[in-house]
Amino acid sequence: MKSLIEAVNQGKVMVSDGAWGTFLHQRGLQSGECPELWNITHRADVLAIAKSYIDAGADIILTNSFGASPAKLDLYHLRDRAEELNEAAAAISREAAGSDHFVLGSVGPTGKMLFMGEVTEDELYDGFRIQAEALKKGGVDAICVETMSAIDEASLAVKAAAEIGMEVVCTFTFERSLKGEYLTMMGVTPAEMVQAVKTAGASIIGANCGNGFDQMIEIVREIRRVDSSIPVLVHANAGVPILENGKTIFPETPEMMAEKVQKLINSGANIIGGCCGTTPAHIRAIRMKIPRDE
Ligand SMILES: [Zn+2]
Repeated sequence: MKSLIEAVNQGKVMVSDGAWGTFLHQRGLQSGECPELWNITHRADVLAIAKSYIDAGADIILTNSFGASPAKLDLYHLRDRAEELNEAAAAISREAAGSDHFVLGSVGPTGKMLFMGEVTEDELYDGFRIQAEALKKGGVDAICVETMSAIDEASLAVKAAAEIGMEVVCTFTFERSLKGEYLTMMGVTPAEMVQAVKTAGASIIGANCGNGFDQMIEIVREIRRVDSSIPVLVHANAGVPILENGKTIFPETPEMMAEKVQKLINSGANIIGGCCGTTPAHIRAIRMKIPRDE
């Protein structure tokens, strides 16, 4: 099989998966419980989620390892199990994907801030390296450093994966400011992200979470203003969340999201999938708008 970047460079838009977290909660994950421990304790449930996105038509699925950096696992006193949990996450998604779909090893932020002195660069790098190596061992095709907001942390995570020979995707989470600019929590613009993560070694970049397709279209346009060629991945929420009776609701149905797919492609996106509030039904509806030719 081709590498992910070779597949993207063939020019066909690819479909990625949707939300995992909400799905785990539906299957009984309690708040306060470590989602990645489920790779061992509830393997069949995690496998079922991965399979549901393959069945929905995704070309690419992620892994249940978003919070499996040693620093993040520390919260659950599971730091020592980082290798085991990441390798299991990769093996589960590999099993669901088979050899003809791609698996991206998910690497999320640690929650520790370099500028606050909560952690050193070496500690962050070493932790990301352990995570990337275990995901590689478990069989992922590439690493997806995602939901980042700080350039320093993202760059360390990208480097750690690139330096063991992995292709790296890196996405940041942007929010629209009152002035209408897109910025991460740490004040990073899409253009600043592009430059920094390319330098660190990412070959695919993009945005995930925080926004629905409407905002993602504007973010992709901003990326395309500074880089016309790097492949762009979008994992969008099912619209911007609204509060209803104290509950967070993601308002966009599969059909609503599917209607915007062509506009997102026209803006320059190469890989399209979902984040919070999206389900296999959303991914199936997106797939219908991006037919496979063979
Ligand atoms: Zn999300």
